[in-house]
Amino acid sequence: MSSSSSASSLLHVTFFVAVLVLLLFPASSSASGSGGRRGGRQSDLLRLGAPEAETARALRFSAGSAFKVALFADLHYGENAWTTWGPAQDGNSDHVMAGVLDRESPDFVIYLGDVITANNLPMANASLVWDRAISPTRSRGIPWATVFGNHDDAPFEWPPEWFSAAGVPRRVCPMVNSSCPTENLSEEDCRFKGTSRLDLMAKEIEGNALSFSSSGPIELWPSVSNYVLKVFSSKDQDSVVVLLYFLDSGGGSYPEVISNAQAQWFQQKTQEINPDSTIPEIIFWHIPSRAYKRVAPSRIFGIRRPCVGSINKEKVAPQEAERGMMDILLDRPSVKAVFAGHNHGLDWCCPYKKLWLCFARHTGYGGYGDWPRGARMLEMSEQPFAIRSWIRMEDGSQHSDVDLTCVTR
Ligand SMILES: [Zn+2]
Repeated sequence: MSSSSSASSLLHVTFFVAVLVLLLFPASSSASGSGGRRGGRQSDLLRLGAPEAETARALRFSAGSAFKVALFADLHYGENAWTTWGPAQDGNSDHVMAGVLDRESPDFVIYLGDVITANNLPMANASLVWDRAISPTRSRGIPWATVFGNHDDAPFEWPPEWFSAAGVPRRVCPMVNSSCPTENLSEEDCRFKGTSRLDLMAKEIEGNALSFSSSGPIELWPSVSNYVLKVFSSKDQDSVVVLLYFLDSGGGSYPEVISNAQAQWFQQKTQEINPDSTIPEIIFWHIPSRAYKRVAPSRIFGIRRPCVGSINKEKVAPQEAERGMMDILLDRPSVKAVFAGHNHGLDWCCPYKKLWLCFARHTGYGGYGDWPRGARMLEMSEQPFAIRSWIRMEDGSQHSDVDLTCVTR
């Protein structure tokens, strides 16, 4: 949904440079490009062997334990980047993620879109801000994947207050390593043109060995970040226990929709790797599909069984159209659940026919709404296959435990 641009903050042109420096180089962020490796059960997640083998660098259940995933949704780094308020929110978001990661020790992290608020970023390369958002995960040696939301490549929107007496802040190009950053800049360097989905993804992948993200098939452009990850068995090197599908639900540079082409890609991919629907499949995208509206709990009566959750504070803001994806998901008995972000004031899971539709939990301090922050957790066990989910809050509390293995009413 659209971000709040009404934060009450003073605009000081002299703050602009300092604020950008703080934004990009916080004391808590990791400077490591490839990230460390964790010992213990994390160490066998990544098997960096022969690159040609699919399982050489694989996500894998550890013997005797579950595979646990943290969902970080709607972080909105870079919100109101030119004020003191915005960068302070980013510091708070660092804190939320650090707390969840340290308490839960997940095996994997999924960034569920709106990682940054690109429409608030007056810089040529938003990858610098994106990199800060993934640094708490990277610095702990945890692998991750990202999928795009509607704000991640949204074009820069000129703040109206810049056209008041204080004027437009001095332009800064943070990529230039100079004591006088506005010297020697080309017009191109200093344009607030935003960073495309493809560029954001290319930068993430090139610098991070722990990233499992992918741009996906170029034929699906302008949709980027459509891909599938296999999580392998602890017992059998080549056996896949669960498939994680990521789809770009659009927004920003193009409409908020999962296209017919994406639906066809999904169908083709499933026929290729799971034709008889024997492997469970879980779906992740940013903007809820229209089916979420159908199952949404009543605003009057609140969240009741079989739905499970803690906040139901706004209407579902769904994709603009349904182009066949939900019917395909319903046709596949292997599809267990869909996870979406986007609505910061919703955190429920509800059954939709034979699968679960779940919201994550607003993780970042950027973006609209001041509901307490947290992260939806997802834990899968290998044999028998089961999925549990709960929400871990910034204050350490836990709520909304739900079994998503199958739909029971
Ligand atoms: Zn958002």
